Amino acid sequence: METRLCRCDQEGISEAARILRDGGLVALPTETVYGLAANALNESAVREIFAVKGRPQDNPLIVHISDLSMWEPLVREIPPQAIRLARAFWPGPMTVILPKSDLVPMTTTAGMDTVAVRMPLHEGARAVIQACGLPLAAPSANLSGSPSPTSAQHCVKDLWGKIPLILDGGESSVGIESTVISLVGKPTLLRPGGISPEQLEAALGEPVAISHAVTEPLAPGERPTSPGMKYRHYAPKARMVLVESDLNGFLRLLEAGGEGTWGLVFDGEERMTRRPCLTYGREHHPEEQARELFAALRTFDEKGAQLIYARCPDHDGAALGVYNRMLRAAAFEVIKG
Ligand code: AMP
Ligand code: MG
Repeated sequence: METRLCRCDQEGISEAARILRDGGLVALPTETVYGLAANALNESAVREIFAVKGRPQDNPLIVHISDLSMWEPLVREIPPQAIRLARAFWPGPMTVILPKSDLVPMTTTAGMDTVAVRMPLHEGARAVIQACGLPLAAPSANLSGSPSPTSAQHCVKDLWGKIPLILDGGESSVGIESTVISLVGKPTLLRPGGISPEQLEAALGEPVAISHAVTEPLAPGERPTSPGMKYRHYAPKARMVLVESDLNGFLRLLEAGGEGTWGLVFDGEERMTRRPCLTYGREHHPEEQARELFAALRTFDEKGAQLIYARCPDHDGAALGVYNRMLRAAAFEVIKG
């Protein structure tokens, strides 16, 4: 298939809307990561998303809307807590899970009777949704298993020749996927992201439980509440090890590594070692780290890194999302020292 790369301007947006209305797929920018979008209500279009990405069939998709009136037909009801969250964080990097209506095909929700919905902040993403007038299912626009795309070039790398259109709307400003909160039962954080647990609690005025899958591997045979948590995700091809120690301990470990060993370090630290390093923002600056992490993981693949020792981010607040992605990229291999 011939793929076009277009700017996310009026012309690109109209072309995207035309393709989406016809049941086709478009990679488009959002503030979290780039999304691979299709009409969420069209089963064959949604099936194509799974096929193109090589995404496991049991991993549900997030449905993207451009205004609140698009939410109602997708869910059974919108409880007051959901309104509070939407008022506080939409448009923005937060996804809300509620029982789904019959309108939403089971293919979109991967057989679940709930549906995840988000209103993105990126103006281009909302303009495309508005222009086609459809809720768009849009998982990250990468091949399943590779790090999520935060630029149009990352989508080109993974999806060229597989979809008709990639819209370039600049680099994703958040850089990791949305915060996913379930309002089925007590509010529960299923996946940390651009909105922190504290921010969610402040908006809701009640505690938010954190799914243990956020920071721990699933027990053998355990059924995850958030299916995406099951997979080694966001990962470079190299083995990655998360190192929880002070800088000196980290540098010793890195120096002792053999050929093909790389460091993933905070800005400035790359000058303290002769080993090759990539950086992912300043220490204790989780927003910077989120913005830079996935691009760094992709660069390790290009460089042919064999083993990556990574400096550990903070664990809580705004850093929880970064910590969660790094744990997964490292397949939970952590060295403490
Ligand atoms: P992605 O679009 O690749 O960022 O992945 C979306 C993730 O959101 C999935 O992997 C799930 O973990 C989560 N998710 C989506 N829909 C649901 C749902 N109905 N129930 C629970 N988790 C969901
Ligand atoms: Mg994904």
